[in-house]
Amino acid sequence: MAYRILVDLCSACGACEAECPVSAIHPKGDAFAIDPDKCVECEGFYDSPQCVAVCPVDACVPVTKS
Ligand code: SF4
Ligand code: SF4
Repeated sequence: MAYRILVDLCSACGACEAECPVSAIHPKGDAFAIDPDKCVECEGFYDSPQCVAVCPVDACVPVTKS
């Protein structure tokens, strides 16, 4: 699984990019995006996903299968 960024909520502050331990987050258009192939949910690095922890607008959410 991985996390993703809700583009409509993201204010492009960049806080999450600096915190991601595997550099999975990069600017994309007017927002930021998470590479699902890189995201490890912070396992082995932190107790909780750091992008979720630092995002001021709760734009980082788990990818859910539909
Ligand atoms: S959950 Fe962790 S590894 Fe995945 S994008 Fe967020 S900060 Fe990066
Ligand atoms: S911390 Fe949240 S608002 Fe800031 S760039 Fe990341 S997803 Fe967007």
